[in-house]
Amino acid sequence: MWTCAKCGEVIENQFDACWKCSTARSAAAGSTETPGTPKRKPAWRMSYKVFRGTFATWEALFSEAAEFATYIGPERVISISHSEDAGDGVVSVWYWTDVTEAAGGKSEPV
Ligand SMILES: [Zn+2]
Repeated sequence: MWTCAKCGEVIENQFDACWKCSTARSAAAGSTETPGTPKRKPAWRMSYKVFRGTFATWEALFSEAAEFATYIGPERVISISHSEDAGDGVVSVWYWTDVTEAAGGKSEPV
């Protein structure tokens, strides 16, 4: 994970730019990626991003979720769901991510 230097959004490692404001990752502070890491075969893992807020309207949450889904692309988006939690609107975007970093050091499953 890295944090966008411009808007403060927390971005998954596989993205090179902020999905929200398009700021490139190189501008981000606290990036932990080391250059020259050997490429691995991508291993896919289901992940999700949650948008919520008491002040935000459904429309604001949905448009944020839509913006994120558009950024990651149709081949990654699984579904978008929403619910209400104690007055909070909660919108979840389910998508595929790769776990090349999480698999570090371990051999590929047969
Ligand atoms: Zn940003």
